[in-house]
Amino acid sequence: MKPAGRIARTGKIARQLARLDRAFVWHPFTQMRDWLQKDPIVLVAGKGAVLWDSHGNEYLDANSSIWTNLHGHNHPRINKAIRRQLSQVAHTSMLGFANEPASRLAGRLVTLAAGPRGKSGKRGTRANTLTGPKLTRVFYSDDGSTAVETALKLSYEYSRRTGGHRPRFLGLEGAYHGDTVGAVSLGHIDRFHRAYSGLLFSSDAVMAPYCYRCPYNRAKPERADARDTRRCGWECLDALQRRLDSARKRDRPYTAFVVEPGVQGAAGMIPQPDGWLSQAMERVRSHGAMVIADEVMTAFGRTVGGREFVRETCGGDLPLFGTHQAGVQADFLCLAKGLTGGYLPMAATLTSDAIFGAFLGDYEDFKTFFHGHSYTGNALGAAASEANLDLLTEAASSRRRLELARVFGASLQALWSSSWVGDIRQVGLVAGIELVRDWRTRAPFPLRERAGIRVCDAMARRGVLTRPIGNVVVLMPPYCTSDRQVRRMVEVLNEAIVEVFGRRVL
Ligand SMILES: *Cc1c(COP(=O)(O)O)cnc(C)c1O
Repeated sequence: MKPAGRIARTGKIARQLARLDRAFVWHPFTQMRDWLQKDPIVLVAGKGAVLWDSHGNEYLDANSSIWTNLHGHNHPRINKAIRRQLSQVAHTSMLGFANEPASRLAGRLVTLAAGPRGKSGKRGTRANTLTGPKLTRVFYSDDGSTAVETALKLSYEYSRRTGGHRPRFLGLEGAYHGDTVGAVSLGHIDRFHRAYSGLLFSSDAVMAPYCYRCPYNRAKPERADARDTRRCGWECLDALQRRLDSARKRDRPYTAFVVEPGVQGAAGMIPQPDGWLSQAMERVRSHGAMVIADEVMTAFGRTVGGREFVRETCGGDLPLFGTHQAGVQADFLCLAKGLTGGYLPMAATLTSDAIFGAFLGDYEDFKTFFHGHSYTGNALGAAASEANLDLLTEAASSRRRLELARVFGASLQALWSSSWVGDIRQVGLVAGIELVRDWRTRAPFPLRERAGIRVCDAMARRGVLTRPIGNVVVLMPPYCTSDRQVRRMVEVLNEAIVEVFGRRVL
């Protein structure tokens, strides 16, 4: 199963690569002082769910290379699609010209955005109708941040042209929507965002449904997903309603509500209990605001299966988007990470005819959307994306994803026996495992203990790569992961917890 090329570099070359990295590279979201004190893992090859470093060591890619990879590395069909396009042309500009794969891809995305096909094979059959507008236009960009930035600017400008109110935005506490200044303004992770407050416009945050740490959840901690044992009266939805009402009363209504459908990723893998999203969107829509669905992480079937209820009405296809899983459609659908199968940076923001129409006019009216990037609609990225969608929509691959999510969910159960595990939050092929000092009180590890980092370092030494979010360890296997490999990922997490904190019985 190894890739065709040479994997291990000679000792001299491996040391040189590490030296060059330490001398010249500045890594994202990384305390470089810690980084400079260790030997970096220099990855040189991949195949399926496996990666190799410059010394020839083998690893499992347990977070799909920061949530991007879908079908595995070095996939023959995606490789072939890129090669075929490369023999035509690698990149031409979307400013003034169309290109072959980007045109085709836009058509495919609009079709998929109409919702999964029902049992009859038709899309948008009555049983499958999504609450919300049809998404008919695709605006390309390069990353998750730029996909969100596009939705932000479009909704801002649409609202300015049609509303008469100063545009205002509402999101969820703990939300992360990217690192460009607009996307940061929509985010609410104090640790990342405080430093830049002087650069940002203000946006509001409302309580997120974080059942495990919800002050209104009267249930005692149990050895089960906090969503299933919660005892509450949907106070999070009441908080949203109060926020909307008070904005309305002050005559300062919201333009748009920004949300990650199904599960908030960088906030710590915080899943929404069944029914939350559709109820929240209903309230937002009756307020008159648009919905921006940031599906940068949740799209392309990532959140389907496992313990999750798979909507029966979908009968035929599995839903590909978190919104569709909840039976709803946003006004903006932001896609990136998995769009190319994790091969190339490419993003898309889908929206409706209503939004598109507000930007039409005579040339001298300057209603044009003045926004775009040099590499927008890149042909290699679009070709990779088409191959990704081919793979995703095959019946066999959907069946396999569901089965993998089931095996993943079953393996995760073993972690409940560790007293250092407070919550296990699985949504399809994503899981966040929250490490705690005391599961009976939900008392967290203090940040300076670097619990998540130490556990992930111990996992890497055992050949499983992932990255924590604070005290939450993320497992997100590529869809091609075998049953044996996914069990190994969970087993290694268990071993790493014992190595770092010792064994303690419940
Ligand atoms: C990763 C992520 C982003 C940012 O995407 P980049 O490609 O890193 O710019 C935005 N939103 C969500 C939900 C993400 O997970």
